[in-house]
Amino acid sequence: MKTINCTPRSVVSVGFLLGMLIAGNALSSDSNTTPAPVKAAADAPKAKVAAPATSSDDQMSKALFEKISKGSGDIVIRTGDLPAGAAPIEAKVADKPKATKAAAKPVEKEVHAVQWSYIEGPGGPEDWGNLSKDNLACSKGKTQSPININVDRAVKAELSPLEFLYRPSPLSIVDNGHTVMVNYGEGSNLMVDGRQYRLVQFHFHKPSEEAINGERTDMVAHLVHQHHDGNLAVVAVLMTTKPPVSPKKYWWGSDEVKGNALIQTLWNNVPLTKGKTEMPGVTIDINQMLPADKSFFTYMGSLETPPCTENVLWFVMKTPIFVSEEQVQNFDRIYPMNARPLQPKGDRLIKETKGN
Ligand SMILES: [Zn+2]
Repeated sequence: MKTINCTPRSVVSVGFLLGMLIAGNALSSDSNTTPAPVKAAADAPKAKVAAPATSSDDQMSKALFEKISKGSGDIVIRTGDLPAGAAPIEAKVADKPKATKAAAKPVEKEVHAVQWSYIEGPGGPEDWGNLSKDNLACSKGKTQSPININVDRAVKAELSPLEFLYRPSPLSIVDNGHTVMVNYGEGSNLMVDGRQYRLVQFHFHKPSEEAINGERTDMVAHLVHQHHDGNLAVVAVLMTTKPPVSPKKYWWGSDEVKGNALIQTLWNNVPLTKGKTEMPGVTIDINQMLPADKSFFTYMGSLETPPCTENVLWFVMKTPIFVSEEQVQNFDRIYPMNARPLQPKGDRLIKETKGN
């Protein structure tokens, strides 16, 4: 799949759109879990407007835009990414003259429009590929995420360590209707073999989406990074309440299962209103959510929410972090189950850092 190789043009347009979303309006109606499609179509015509798909870049922009406007948890591109020269594309997408027409015409269809969800049935994971042609990868893709990692079959390799060059950020948090997501401030980067990916957001799933030897953990945090060429790298930090199997290998910290301080700060500040981004004036440090042992598995996968775009570089940390039962229960009250089913691994290679 080549769709992820977007040019600066498409990065520009998506970045601008996200700026619009954060600044204002579009997250509100679309990301509400209560579907109100007709109203949404009428109130927010921009969100329903599709740019003419004249090139794969445009399609990428459109797919990303739809994803963002639906409040999905997996892509955020900031206005800060924008190089100069964004204006023509901004104009093209922002004041789409066909907006009214496009929104008004398919009202009947909109009545039947289905929001994607994690619940089986219409809109459920098996249906994602049918919801929009932009989601075709969800059903037809061959390198989808999440997957089960069979440790015995992973290739043990001398991989360059991941360098987490993270620094604190003002908290910006949103319940986007699919997950709790934190937008991260600029200046925090992940170095992968000399390539720099900027941390843009992180979000949560319950249970963990990825499985190790067939087992999912209580939760997972996905740290989403983007290279300036548009490519994504996601770090999965597994979260568990369970006592350590082997303290040396799988666990760190005291004997007591304590909550994670950062998670607690986040839960304290989850907005009461879905789709509303809150900036409570708190500073957070993502380093508090990294395990001490930075060994990992890596494979090529996809976004695990529509549009399921492929060519995403995944890193699954081998060592989970600890969270308290109460912290898991609190997330459960917001999202009892927001994990996509495991996808076929196919002939993909999974590599594992050696020596741990
Ligand atoms: Zn995720």
